[in-house]
Amino acid sequence: MSEDVHEVYAIRYGQHVRRSPENFIGGDPHDVLQPLDFFVWAIVGPTGAILVDSGFDEAMSHRRRREITKPVREGLAAIGIAAEAVETVIVSHLHYDHCGNYDLFPRARYHLQDREMAYATGRCMCHQALRLPFEADDVVAMVRKVFAGRVCFHDGDDEIVPGVTVHRIGGHSMGLQSVRVKTKRGYVMLAADAAHLYAHIDQERIFPITYNVAEVLEGYTTLKKLAGSANHIVPGHDPQVLTRYPAAKPGLEGWIARLDVEPIKASGE
Ligand SMILES: [Zn+2]
Ligand SMILES: [Zn+2]
Repeated sequence: MSEDVHEVYAIRYGQHVRRSPENFIGGDPHDVLQPLDFFVWAIVGPTGAILVDSGFDEAMSHRRRREITKPVREGLAAIGIAAEAVETVIVSHLHYDHCGNYDLFPRARYHLQDREMAYATGRCMCHQALRLPFEADDVVAMVRKVFAGRVCFHDGDDEIVPGVTVHRIGGHSMGLQSVRVKTKRGYVMLAADAAHLYAHIDQERIFPITYNVAEVLEGYTTLKKLAGSANHIVPGHDPQVLTRYPAAKPGLEGWIARLDVEPIKASGE
């Protein structure tokens, strides 16, 4: 493996069954079942494993009434990653489904955008509508990591290791960042919540939880620019990711997909 080329995995840990009108500003005339999956992503390269997001735990699944299908720790173990050994976690944003499990990675440094911490600890959280997807305990846990010297802040685009860069998109959350990974099939964009579903980016529609609509739409353009092609953009919550890409290995179907290989089913098929 050359020094800046990585493997990428989508690891599903939970799901939330809902209908399509809940997934778009302005609803959806089709009103069909359109569940969301919850993922973390693992980037594996010569410098070890980098995790994108940390998911949520059992307690949060009850609190938020979201189902855990397989705990994050098990998903990582299934592809040979010990949570205790993870040294780098990129946090796309501080919503409850992306930054929980905070004791699972005792050795990790966390990479976060300046603006996300400012947003999650500042005046916007005085508004119930804006703080809804945040949990005070998650935010406090991240503040504690700052004081423990375990957070590395970024402002805009930055490199984590050669071949792995973060890009502030904003939109859905003020400091949302997506992650670009150099792989053997080109640049894969882990959008996280810059695009929840393929439908959002393909049809330029908007998920209802949004800090800034214009930035969401500009974000789609940025993702397309940074990715090798439309087939290199991986949305953050789409169950189709697990059918478009092959399983990481036999037995992991519907759980862990390999994203650095060509999709089985291309975008738009
Ligand atoms: Zn989010
Ligand atoms: Zn999310």
